[in-house]
Amino acid sequence: MQKKQKHTSALEEKNGIPAPEITDDSAISKVILNRKKQPSEQELIRGILDSNITALSRAITLVESKNPKHLEKANTIIKGCLPYANNSIRIGVTGVPGVGKSTFIEAIGKHLISLDKKIAVLAVDPSSTITKGSILGDKTRMADLVKESNAYIRPSASGDSLGGVARKTRETIILCEAAGFNTIIIETVGVGQSETTVHSMVDFFLLLKLSGAGDELQGIKRGIIEMADAIVINKADGDNVKRAKLAKVEFARALHLYPEKESSWSPPVSMCSALNNEGIEAVWKMITKYINITTKNNFFLKKRQEQNKFWLLQTIEEQLKFDFYNNKTIKTELQKQLKLIEENKTTPFAAAEDLLKLI
Ligand code: GDP
Repeated sequence: MQKKQKHTSALEEKNGIPAPEITDDSAISKVILNRKKQPSEQELIRGILDSNITALSRAITLVESKNPKHLEKANTIIKGCLPYANNSIRIGVTGVPGVGKSTFIEAIGKHLISLDKKIAVLAVDPSSTITKGSILGDKTRMADLVKESNAYIRPSASGDSLGGVARKTRETIILCEAAGFNTIIIETVGVGQSETTVHSMVDFFLLLKLSGAGDELQGIKRGIIEMADAIVINKADGDNVKRAKLAKVEFARALHLYPEKESSWSPPVSMCSALNNEGIEAVWKMITKYINITTKNNFFLKKRQEQNKFWLLQTIEEQLKFDFYNNKTIKTELQKQLKLIEENKTTPFAAAEDLLKLI
């Protein structure tokens, strides 16, 4: 029988919280790597804290599962990882398809790895809930970054709603942070509410833009500009440089019209060529500057606390809705009330009141 021995790792010292006690490393890795055998929650927690990528991936699969038993397991793992999370910079990257998000993330990702950072790339892709595809699903994307041992790329979870996907992404952030990834990049496309969702889970929100033919500001959702902590005009190379410079001036002027942010940070506009790896280092320097300023004036922490409050309420709402619509009595009564509405025998308001009284 294997002798139980206390495990020591760098993570154990972190935050002064001891890691769960478990059998030695080789035993853990064997269990985790043996696909047929389900590792226990404690084994997965231990694996994650030891930066074991297989353990991390298996735990994320549990988080993404719809099986209630898996969800229960996932919750235990998240709870176990939570004390080790939070030690990262979370960056959101948005922009229309084709703007160069994955090329940009690959470029900045490689730069970050050269600075000894560990990066995790996740995605919130509302279209994947319908098509079951995902913006990170295509394996040819970020081909170089995938090969880096200090990078972890996880395609977007599919789900029934943006809220569901968002929740899974947030939980995945916690697991990645506990596994030692100190820079989390979350990619999203400008569809529906996905930017707002990603904005509510990151420290820094970056909007990638293209320079157009003088109509840069048209067709762009006002809300996104307001949310952006920086606008970066990509593809500023070749014949495009001149237009990119014009776009830069125009966006800078537009940003000036917005009131000063609570963070006391004025969102800058810069240019880059993700393809040629130009201007990427400057973007990272800008993000670092933001982190420094907002850490000093306490906005960084305040924003995270606000985000946590928001997610608490959001999770309660989601859960209440789920419980309500999955309640057997409600399911039957809802059909009855819908029929009564059709027959003009009740109003939607009276029907809602009757249904809500049932719980
Ligand atoms: P995404 O859909 O936003 O993720 O965009 P991709 O990163 O897949 O890029 C879309 C296309 O634009 C690809 O063909 C890229 O090679 C190209 N591209 C990306 N960044 C640049 C850039 O900085 N300059 C140029 N010229 N092309 C780029």
